[in-house]
Amino acid sequence: AKREGKAGYQFFSQEMNQVNMRRVALENGMRQGLARGEFYLYFQPQWDLKTLRLTGAEALLRWHSAEFGLVGPDEFIPIAESCGFIFDLGDLVLREACLHAVQWDSFFPGLKVAVNISGRQFRQPDFLETMACVIKETGVRPSSLELEFTESVIMERAEKNIHALQALKRMGVKLSIDDFGTGYSSLNYLKHFPIDAIKIDRSFIAELVTDSDDAAIAEAIISMAHSLKLKVIAEGVENDAQLDFLVDRCCDEAQGFYFAPPMAGEDFTGYVKRFSEP
Ligand code: C2E
Ligand code: CA
Ligand code: CA
Ligand code: CA
Repeated sequence: AKREGKAGYQFFSQEMNQVNMRRVALENGMRQGLARGEFYLYFQPQWDLKTLRLTGAEALLRWHSAEFGLVGPDEFIPIAESCGFIFDLGDLVLREACLHAVQWDSFFPGLKVAVNISGRQFRQPDFLETMACVIKETGVRPSSLELEFTESVIMERAEKNIHALQALKRMGVKLSIDDFGTGYSSLNYLKHFPIDAIKIDRSFIAELVTDSDDAAIAEAIISMAHSLKLKVIAEGVENDAQLDFLVDRCCDEAQGFYFAPPMAGEDFTGYVKRFSEP
């Protein structure tokens, strides 16, 4: 038993070592990757379920590294957060998203672009200043920007955040809660915070039609959101049955592979042209 334990430990620590080595390698590779232009945004369309019109897109960061190949944001965002590189990345994301929004707004007025804001980025003392700067420099219509925050980010320093969120609202940008239902359990913040929309996490949408608990949760989220005059966006919609369920319950908007996967900026330009009014 003793020997097994030791072998188990060795295996474990070897694995840990590999994880750590990749982490350190990615961390070191990021800065160079940014300089080489390896980071860029993809855009996933969002649809209005009542008017059946395109409403906008969520910007999703991609890293196509010469060294590591395609690295997913689920892997590199947490690393960037812990080493502080998220400040540079977050800046790039904001600027790029705004520049695209300006371009699309010119032939599809009102199209919105949703941007994911990480906790560390939001907590940076000059976040509001940066936001105002980017809006001014890019000339983006503020109402075409939607910032997505997770519940935990919003709740971390609730008192401070409420002021920051109010300041963002005064700039004219929209605010939404990402991954709703997976994080903080208190719902109290919803009535105090100047939020426009909540996004039902895709973990509830996945089993929507096969799991009655998930169906009940999704239904409850939609009706609660509507009572609070918040818009609801469902993410991760992949099939007809899920869409039917959401349309039946008056969910406002949806995104997911059913409509389209995230795509490059030029491809989304084509997509917007295809679905803009003649
Ligand atoms: P998220 O904000 O929840 O983004 C939605 C994720 O679901 C995206 O993964 C998207 O590609 C994926 N997805 C879209 N439709 C479907 C579907 O129908 N089925 C399934 N199974 N998945 C779908 P992605 O692009 O890999 O991003 C993962 C996470 O990384 C994001 O989750 C977000 O938390 C983070 N992230 C991505 N871009 C950024 C960014 O620019 N800044 C920050 N701070 N975080 C980002
Ligand atoms: Ca998101
Ligand atoms: Ca989400
Ligand atoms: Ca999610």
